[in-house]
Amino acid sequence: MTAPSQTLPFTLLIDPLPADSPRGHFGDTFREVDWTAPALRVGELSAQRGDGVFETLGVVDGHPQAVAAHLARLATSAAICELPAPNEVQWRAAIAYAVERLPEQGEIVLKLVYSRGVDSGPAPTAWLHATAAPDFGTVRASGIRAVTLNRGYPHGVAEQTPWLLMGAKTLSYAVNMAALREAHRRGADDAIFLTHDGFVLEGPTSTVVLRAGGVFVSPAPSGAILHGTTQQSVFEHLQAAGERTEYRDVTADELRAADAVWLLSSVRLAVHVIELDGRPFPAVPELTRAFNAALLARTS
Ligand code: PLP
Repeated sequence: MTAPSQTLPFTLLIDPLPADSPRGHFGDTFREVDWTAPALRVGELSAQRGDGVFETLGVVDGHPQAVAAHLARLATSAAICELPAPNEVQWRAAIAYAVERLPEQGEIVLKLVYSRGVDSGPAPTAWLHATAAPDFGTVRASGIRAVTLNRGYPHGVAEQTPWLLMGAKTLSYAVNMAALREAHRRGADDAIFLTHDGFVLEGPTSTVVLRAGGVFVSPAPSGAILHGTTQQSVFEHLQAAGERTEYRDVTADELRAADAVWLLSSVRLAVHVIELDGRPFPAVPELTRAFNAALLARTS
C-alpha cells in the first residue's frame, strides 16, 4: 500500500471504462497528475459547455461518506444527460485509491467529475479531485441566514421539460453560484429556491429539511431537485430514533410556518436556519448537533 501523501490537493485522472466491463482491477486506468499543471484538453466539453455531471462527497478521518448514494446519483445524472453509464466498481476503486493516499485525519472534499469528453473524442473523461474541507465548525453551531429565491420554473417542470436536465447534478452550476451571490447581496448566507408557483425546491448546493407538526419533511425528490445524500443519512438517523420523516410537496407558506429548517449537504453537513427572508427564525441547535454527530460518525 502506498504511504499517504499527506498533501492536498490530490488529483487523479481516470480512464473511464464502460459499465459492463468485466475488469476487476483498475490501477492502470488511474493517473495521478500535478493539480497545478494543465491536465485537460482545450476541446473538453465540461470546460466549453459545462456538459458533464459531478458528485462532491466528504471524507472524514479516512472514511469516504455515503459512497453508494453518491454513485447511484452519478448514474442517475449520467442517464438524464444521456452519457454512457458510469462503471460503479471502477469509481469505487478510484475513491479507495485516492483515500489510501490522502491524510488519514480531518475532513476532505472529494469531487468526482464525469464529462462528455472532448469535442471529437469517442469517450467521456473523468477525474477525481481532493481538497481540504473548509472549516464549517462555526456555521454548524451558529446557523445561517437564508432567503427564498424564485427558480423561475413551475411545479412539475421536470416532467414537462426533461431537456432542462432537472434532477441531474450537471457541471452547469453558474446559476446556482449566481443565486448564492444574490443571497449575499440580500444580506443572507444562503438561498432556498422556490418554484414560481410557490413550492420549495432545494438550496443551490443543499437539500431543505423542515420540522412541522413533529414530522421531519423534505420536498419530494420528484425529478426537479437532487435527492440529497446527506438528507437520506439524516432521515435514516431520525427513523432509527423513532422520529417520523416524510417526502412531500412543501409550500413556501409551510416553510415559513415550520418550527425549524435545516440545509443539508455533503461537506458543510447540517446547518439550521436562524433567519428567513430577513426575519428571525426558530432553530433547534441541539438537533443540528445530533445530526452532525451522526453524519460525522458514518464509516461508509
Ligand atoms: N441540491 C443541490 C442543488 C446540490 O448541489 C447539493 C449538493 O451539492 C445538494 C442538493 C445536497 O446533496 P448532498 O447532500 O448529496 O451533498
